[in-house]
Amino acid sequence: MKISTLFKANQPVLSLEVFPPKKESGLETIYDTLHQLQAVKPDFISVTYGAGGSGVNNQTLALATAIKERYGIKPLHHLTCVNNTKEEIQTILAELKEANIENVLALRGDLPQEESTQTFVQEYAYAKDLIAEIDKDPAFCVGSACYPEGHISQASDEENYHHLLEKEQAGADFFISQLFFDNDCFYKMVEGARHAGVTKPLVAGIMPILSQAQVQKMIFMCGSSLPSKLIKLIYRYGDDVTELRKASLDYALEQMTDLLAHGVDGVHLYTMNRPEIATKTFEYLRNEVSRT
Ligand code: FAD
Repeated sequence: MKISTLFKANQPVLSLEVFPPKKESGLETIYDTLHQLQAVKPDFISVTYGAGGSGVNNQTLALATAIKERYGIKPLHHLTCVNNTKEEIQTILAELKEANIENVLALRGDLPQEESTQTFVQEYAYAKDLIAEIDKDPAFCVGSACYPEGHISQASDEENYHHLLEKEQAGADFFISQLFFDNDCFYKMVEGARHAGVTKPLVAGIMPILSQAQVQKMIFMCGSSLPSKLIKLIYRYGDDVTELRKASLDYALEQMTDLLAHGVDGVHLYTMNRPEIATKTFEYLRNEVSRT
């Protein structure tokens, strides 16, 4: 079933993201996690695709297939165009069809840092070019990324909304957002995107903080801002990881309550392969949804 059809049921779509285990660890190392994620009954589970030669790409298809076959959950297979030739993309799409995986999140992928000497392939310049390629085959449903605070290399909000509209025009059926900690940024993006003509569902991506080091790395990678309330939490519990995780999960739940109250199209939880986060969050979300 195509993910695009889920949004028509007029309820927030609740989904999860996982990443494949390292190739040498073996796929079965994530089965226990998936078993626990299955219990929370997500509408779909997305599987990241490691751009930049991380060596885990072929595990994405294997994991997406396991999610579908072993756990009976809809998988969303991420796919990046950086480091894949057009021919390689065709091969991957053929493999996805063969495996009956119809939902693909089409991304550009991160480019190597300017100072890097790493060589890389970029036959499709932007995500929109990959979206258009996948959309040629009506068997696929194509999702893409959106950025509540703009992509880190973008200069203005107008550029952000313009490129989002280009992705929709290329064939994107829905969008999942970059993680954010300030809901007002998400609402501003939704308003700006709708004003620019974007009509497809915009799903909010939420990630509870695991540690001070993790959040520092994330904000510099994706440019998400930290509201002072969250900075104060990190300051208060900085060295006490257990308390910090509890407090930041509460913060994420507050974010979600507010998003649901604003009638968001969906919430996508970045699980970081930690099922306990998904269990607590989904139990809470389902209660919230049944109350609204
Ligand atoms: P694009 O939409 O192509 O945008 C990239 C940049 O190009 C932006 O600055 C944009 O403004 C600019 N741009 C776009 N179109 C044009 C144009 N026509 N002219 C000029 N400039 C243009 N990365 C992974 O490697 N693997 C993953 O599994 C993965 N999953 C992700 C999931 C989500 C929900 C999100 C939000 C991101 C994910 N990423 C992943 C990260 C993503 O690959 C990076 O953020 C990447 O830098 C941009 O990807 P994109 O698809 O948004 O690219």
